[in-house]
Amino acid sequence: MPEGHTVHRTAKHFSKHFLGKQVELTSPQGRFTDSKLVSGQALLTSEAFGKQLYLGFETATVRIHLGIYGKWRFRGFEDTPPEPVGQVRARFLSGEQVADVVGPTSCEVLDALQVTAKQSKLGPDPLRIDPGDHELQRFLTRVASSKVVIGQLLMDQSVIAGVGNVYRAELLFRAGLNPYTPGHLIASEVIAGIWFDAVMLMRIGVKTGIMLTRDGYLKGRPTILDRYSAYKREGLPCRNCLNPISIQVLNSRKLYWCSSCQSA
Ligand SMILES: [Zn+2]
Repeated sequence: MPEGHTVHRTAKHFSKHFLGKQVELTSPQGRFTDSKLVSGQALLTSEAFGKQLYLGFETATVRIHLGIYGKWRFRGFEDTPPEPVGQVRARFLSGEQVADVVGPTSCEVLDALQVTAKQSKLGPDPLRIDPGDHELQRFLTRVASSKVVIGQLLMDQSVIAGVGNVYRAELLFRAGLNPYTPGHLIASEVIAGIWFDAVMLMRIGVKTGIMLTRDGYLKGRPTILDRYSAYKREGLPCRNCLNPISIQVLNSRKLYWCSSCQSA
């Protein structure tokens, strides 16, 4: 599943190629019948909230959540738009740009009240500009008031929006924090440290398109073997202490961590 940095990159792509232009919106596959409600209107806003994309048109907003199987395909063309490939739920066409989305969990047209209702369910997003540290404060409050373990809280989109399995594993490894520590037992400076680390790492993700999480590998294109400290490294020696990395299923998602470095 794409994590928040990918969705913010998609929002930037729409800003660059579609913003202010009239967009023809269709559903080649036929399932997104509401596409006609905004087709032909100008795209006025393109924003990511966590893992959800909001494309604001003149009279309504299209909300897209890729979920586990959804994918975007962006293409430029010269004369005729390329034929849709696969089950394209929605096609955005403007000028010489086309954006196709296949297999999203949600793709719907919302009015302003519905947009507010959806967004109010989402927790703070480390990738949104945060003057006055309001987002940070919301994160601190949500973690510190919960008895749920931090490994599960970081995957809860109402606690922190945009973090997924890779950033969860790597953020906890970098913090040296046991994923099974209940939120209310974690010192506030440790919680704030995770937030600021997420802000830094996810911004790098938006810039590069890759989840770079290891100091010394925060630039360039490290191979998949070098990229992570904990994620998908079960059984391999920890890069710090050589203890084998553990794997356990927590709330039906695989959790990776070093039981020695992250014992506290
Ligand atoms: Zn270790």
